[in-house]
Amino acid sequence: MKLLRLTITLFALLLLFTRPAVAEVFYSADHFELSAPNTLTQEATDRLLRQLEASYAKASELFKQRRPLIRVKLSASKNEYLSRCRAVWPSGGSYLPREDIICLPPIDQLYQMENLSNLLAHELTHAILHDLLKHCPRWVEEYYALKAEERSFSTCPKAEKRCPKDNELTRPKDKKAEKQAYCQTYRCGEHFISSQSPQNIAKRCRTFVYETEP
Ligand SMILES: [Zn+2]
Repeated sequence: MKLLRLTITLFALLLLFTRPAVAEVFYSADHFELSAPNTLTQEATDRLLRQLEASYAKASELFKQRRPLIRVKLSASKNEYLSRCRAVWPSGGSYLPREDIICLPPIDQLYQMENLSNLLAHELTHAILHDLLKHCPRWVEEYYALKAEERSFSTCPKAEKRCPKDNELTRPKDKKAEKQAYCQTYRCGEHFISSQSPQNIAKRCRTFVYETEP
Protein backbone atom coordinates (compact mmCIF):
# COMPACT_ATOMS: atom_id res chain seq x y z
CA MET A 1 0.00 0.00 0.00
CA LYS A 2 2.81 2.34 0.99
CA LEU A 3 4.64 1.52 -2.20
CA LEU A 4 1.54 2.29 -4.26
CA ARG A 5 1.12 5.66 -2.57
CA LEU A 6 4.79 6.47 -3.15
CA THR A 7 4.49 5.52 -6.82
CA ILE A 8 1.43 7.73 -7.27
CA THR A 9 3.15 10.66 -5.55
CA LEU A 10 6.25 10.27 -7.72
CA PHE A 11 4.12 10.07 -10.84
CA ALA A 12 2.20 13.23 -9.84
CA LEU A 13 5.46 15.09 -9.20
CA LEU A 14 6.83 13.96 -12.55
CA LEU A 15 3.69 15.27 -14.30
CA LEU A 16 3.98 18.58 -12.47
CA PHE A 17 7.58 19.19 -13.49
CA THR A 18 7.26 18.03 -17.08
CA ARG A 19 4.16 20.12 -17.81
CA PRO A 20 4.94 22.09 -20.97
CA ALA A 21 5.59 25.77 -20.13
CA VAL A 22 5.17 28.68 -22.54
CA ALA A 23 8.32 28.66 -24.64
CA GLU A 24 10.74 31.51 -24.07
CA VAL A 25 12.59 33.45 -26.74
CA PHE A 26 15.73 35.50 -26.13
CA TYR A 27 16.46 38.87 -27.73
CA SER A 28 19.54 41.06 -27.44
CA ALA A 29 19.77 44.84 -27.48
CA ASP A 30 22.63 47.25 -26.66
CA HIS A 31 22.31 46.87 -22.90
CA PHE A 32 19.81 44.06 -22.48
CA GLU A 33 19.13 40.42 -22.90
CA LEU A 34 15.36 40.04 -22.91
CA SER A 35 13.62 36.76 -22.41
CA ALA A 36 9.97 36.85 -23.45
CA PRO A 37 7.17 34.36 -24.11
CA ASN A 38 7.16 33.21 -27.72
CA THR A 39 3.66 34.66 -28.10
CA LEU A 40 5.04 38.23 -28.05
CA THR A 41 4.95 39.80 -31.51
CA GLN A 42 8.08 41.23 -33.10
CA GLU A 43 6.53 44.69 -32.99
CA ALA A 44 5.82 44.44 -29.25
CA THR A 45 9.33 43.10 -28.64
CA ASP A 46 10.93 46.00 -30.51
CA ARG A 47 8.78 48.49 -28.65
CA LEU A 48 9.74 47.03 -25.27
CA LEU A 49 13.44 46.96 -26.10
CA ARG A 50 13.31 50.60 -27.26
CA GLN A 51 11.57 51.53 -24.02
CA LEU A 52 14.18 49.69 -21.94
CA GLU A 53 17.05 51.35 -23.82
CA ALA A 54 15.51 54.80 -23.28
CA SER A 55 15.17 54.19 -19.53
CA TYR A 56 18.71 52.80 -19.42
CA ALA A 57 20.04 55.96 -21.07
CA LYS A 58 18.28 58.03 -18.43
CA ALA A 59 19.47 55.98 -15.43
CA SER A 60 23.07 55.57 -16.59
CA GLU A 61 23.30 59.28 -17.39
CA LEU A 62 22.28 60.04 -13.80
CA PHE A 63 24.74 57.65 -12.20
CA LYS A 64 27.61 57.35 -14.69
CA GLN A 65 27.99 53.69 -13.88
CA ARG A 66 28.30 51.12 -16.65
CA ARG A 67 27.53 47.46 -16.31
CA PRO A 68 27.38 44.33 -18.49
CA LEU A 69 24.17 43.23 -20.21
CA ILE A 70 21.14 43.42 -17.96
CA ARG A 71 18.89 40.39 -18.05
CA VAL A 72 15.18 41.16 -18.23
CA LYS A 73 12.42 38.58 -18.07
CA LEU A 74 8.94 39.35 -19.32
CA SER A 75 6.45 37.09 -17.55
CA ALA A 76 3.95 35.04 -19.54
CA SER A 77 1.19 35.21 -16.93
CA LYS A 78 0.14 36.81 -13.66
CA ASN A 79 0.86 33.53 -11.83
CA GLU A 80 4.34 33.31 -13.23
CA TYR A 81 5.01 36.93 -12.28
CA LEU A 82 3.84 36.40 -8.71
CA SER A 83 5.72 33.15 -8.12
CA ARG A 84 8.87 33.50 -10.23
CA CYS A 85 9.38 37.22 -9.55
CA ARG A 86 8.08 37.22 -5.97
CA ALA A 87 6.31 40.44 -6.97
CA VAL A 88 3.17 42.17 -5.75
CA TRP A 89 0.16 42.71 -8.01
CA PRO A 90 -0.26 45.07 -9.73
CA SER A 91 3.27 46.40 -10.16
CA GLY A 92 5.56 47.41 -13.00
CA GLY A 93 8.51 45.12 -12.32
CA SER A 94 10.94 43.92 -9.72
CA TYR A 95 14.74 43.57 -9.59
CA LEU A 96 15.92 40.27 -8.09
CA PRO A 97 19.41 40.98 -6.71
CA ARG A 98 20.45 37.37 -6.13
CA GLU A 99 19.73 36.39 -9.71
CA ASP A 100 20.64 39.83 -11.05
CA ILE A 101 17.58 39.95 -13.26
CA ILE A 102 14.69 42.36 -13.77
CA CYS A 103 11.34 40.60 -13.77
CA LEU A 104 8.47 42.29 -15.60
CA PRO A 105 4.74 41.55 -15.45
CA PRO A 106 2.91 40.26 -18.56
CA ILE A 107 2.97 42.80 -21.39
CA ASP A 108 -0.71 43.89 -21.02
CA GLN A 109 -0.19 44.66 -17.35
CA LEU A 110 3.13 46.39 -18.03
CA TYR A 111 1.59 48.90 -20.40
CA GLN A 112 -1.23 49.64 -17.98
CA MET A 113 1.23 51.08 -15.48
CA GLU A 114 1.31 54.85 -15.19
CA ASN A 115 4.73 56.45 -15.64
CA LEU A 116 6.18 53.26 -17.10
CA SER A 117 9.47 54.85 -18.15
CA ASN A 118 10.00 56.10 -14.60
CA LEU A 119 9.18 52.69 -13.13
CA LEU A 120 11.66 51.05 -15.47
CA ALA A 121 14.30 53.66 -14.58
CA HIS A 122 13.73 52.70 -10.92
CA GLU A 123 14.33 48.96 -11.49
CA LEU A 124 17.23 49.68 -13.83
CA THR A 125 18.89 51.82 -11.16
CA HIS A 126 18.79 48.80 -8.84
CA ALA A 127 20.38 46.66 -11.56
CA ILE A 128 23.03 49.29 -12.36
CA LEU A 129 24.00 50.18 -8.77
CA HIS A 130 23.42 46.97 -6.84
CA ASP A 131 26.95 45.63 -7.12
CA LEU A 132 28.49 48.98 -6.18
CA LEU A 133 26.21 49.55 -3.18
CA LYS A 134 25.71 46.00 -1.93
CA HIS A 135 27.49 46.71 1.39
CA CYS A 136 25.37 49.77 2.15
CA PRO A 137 22.08 49.74 4.03
CA ARG A 138 19.26 49.04 1.56
CA TRP A 139 17.88 52.56 1.78
CA VAL A 140 20.99 53.96 0.05
CA GLU A 141 20.34 52.04 -3.20
CA GLU A 142 16.61 52.62 -2.83
CA TYR A 143 17.14 56.37 -2.54
CA TYR A 144 18.96 56.49 -5.88
CA ALA A 145 16.21 54.36 -7.46
CA LEU A 146 13.55 56.77 -6.16
CA LYS A 147 15.55 59.71 -7.54
CA ALA A 148 15.67 58.07 -10.97
CA GLU A 149 11.95 57.47 -10.78
CA GLU A 150 11.34 61.17 -10.02
CA ARG A 151 8.67 60.21 -7.50
CA SER A 152 7.14 63.01 -5.45
CA PHE A 153 7.38 62.82 -1.65
CA SER A 154 5.36 65.92 -0.90
CA THR A 155 2.70 63.92 0.97
CA CYS A 156 5.10 62.15 3.35
CA PRO A 157 4.27 62.39 7.05
CA LYS A 158 6.83 64.30 9.10
CA ALA A 159 6.89 61.90 12.05
CA GLU A 160 9.43 59.15 12.84
CA LYS A 161 12.86 60.43 11.98
CA ARG A 162 14.93 57.36 11.40
CA CYS A 163 16.28 55.46 8.40
CA PRO A 164 14.36 52.32 7.40
CA LYS A 165 15.81 48.92 8.22
CA ASP A 166 16.55 46.60 5.30
CA ASN A 167 13.55 44.34 5.93
CA GLU A 168 11.19 47.30 6.10
CA LEU A 169 12.07 47.95 2.46
CA THR A 170 12.32 44.39 1.19
CA ARG A 171 9.38 42.93 3.11
CA PRO A 172 6.96 45.70 4.13
CA LYS A 173 3.88 44.46 6.05
CA ASP A 174 1.42 46.30 3.83
CA LYS A 175 1.05 49.25 1.47
CA LYS A 176 1.05 51.74 4.33
CA ALA A 177 4.29 50.33 5.79
CA GLU A 178 5.84 50.37 2.32
CA LYS A 179 4.95 54.02 1.80
CA GLN A 180 6.36 54.87 5.21
CA ALA A 181 9.64 53.09 4.40
CA TYR A 182 9.95 54.97 1.10
CA CYS A 183 9.28 58.27 2.87
CA GLN A 184 12.02 57.50 5.41
CA THR A 185 14.34 56.45 2.60
CA TYR A 186 13.79 59.70 0.81
CA ARG A 187 14.31 61.78 3.95
CA CYS A 188 17.51 59.91 4.93
CA GLY A 189 18.81 60.12 1.37
CA GLU A 190 18.22 63.86 1.19
CA HIS A 191 19.94 64.30 4.54
CA PHE A 192 22.98 62.03 4.16
CA ILE A 193 23.51 61.73 0.43
CA SER A 194 21.74 64.58 -1.39
CA SER A 195 23.71 65.24 -4.58
CA GLN A 196 26.72 62.97 -3.95
CA SER A 197 27.51 60.31 -6.53
CA PRO A 198 26.89 56.62 -5.73
CA GLN A 199 30.63 56.02 -6.33
CA ASN A 200 31.51 58.43 -3.49
CA ILE A 201 28.84 57.06 -1.22
CA ALA A 202 29.95 53.45 -1.84
CA LYS A 203 33.33 54.25 -0.28
CA ARG A 204 31.81 55.28 3.01
CA CYS A 205 28.52 53.43 3.09
CA ARG A 206 29.50 51.21 5.99
CA THR A 207 29.53 54.32 8.19
CA PHE A 208 25.79 54.84 7.74
CA VAL A 209 23.73 53.56 10.62
CA TYR A 210 20.09 52.65 10.64
CA GLU A 211 18.87 54.39 13.77
CA THR A 212 19.89 57.95 13.07
CA GLU A 213 18.08 61.16 13.70
CA PRO A 214 18.53 63.16 10.53
ZN1 LIG B 1 13.25 49.90 -5.36
